[in-house]
Amino acid sequence: MTEALLATRRLLVIEDDRDIAELLSLHLSELPAQVTLASDGRQGLGLALTRGPWDAVVLDIGLPGLNGLDLCRELRAQAARVPVLMLTARATELDRVLGLELGADDYLTKPFSVVELVARVKALMRRAAMPAADAEAAGAAAPTVLATGPLRIDRPQRRAWLGPGELALTPREFDLLWYFACHPGRVFTRDELLDAVWGHGHDGYDHTVNTHINRLRNKLGTPLTPGGFIHTVWGVGYRFEAPA
Ligand code: CA
Repeated sequence: MTEALLATRRLLVIEDDRDIAELLSLHLSELPAQVTLASDGRQGLGLALTRGPWDAVVLDIGLPGLNGLDLCRELRAQAARVPVLMLTARATELDRVLGLELGADDYLTKPFSVVELVARVKALMRRAAMPAADAEAAGAAAPTVLATGPLRIDRPQRRAWLGPGELALTPREFDLLWYFACHPGRVFTRDELLDAVWGHGHDGYDHTVNTHINRLRNKLGTPLTPGGFIHTVWGVGYRFEAPA
């Protein structure tokens, strides 16, 4: 990725706390990126939907107008692929985010370190924006399209289809599905999945993995796929296998 391309990256920060918003704007613009701020939920959703494409959205939960949980749900319904990092003020909010399975790609609990936030945003943008380079880095022999049963996944395009229908996957869900599909039959622990899909050193939670897997399962579950693709291996983790 060249500097010129990096400079065109666009980030939307939806946060009503002016001090935090300005701090984030200052640090994120150094990525470099063009940062747009919104301090109200409705305004933020409007910008998210009409002024895109965005390379990532940083979204606070407690917002006037429309809260971040509803905003995220609406955003996912209309723009499935934009990477979203949610900011939560309390651990109880984090539980709600994870429990509701809204489709956020990452989470940080306030107070957070700005350095950590910038690193997370960078990682999200890298995953979403450089699929071709990723595939290249993984080696020339690595497959770029996988088909198993009714499922077809195109890595360079970052698109997946189940039967005739395209799946609306978030960037993280796509990465998880791709990783699973590359290793059919193998059992992964949650830690292994965190390392492989979220990256080494990610300060993740086991339930981050669970919640993404549940979302992916919901999206993969149709009459075409009785029994599903992602199987729980009790006490160990998960295994991917196409339905027979
Ligand atoms: Ca707030």
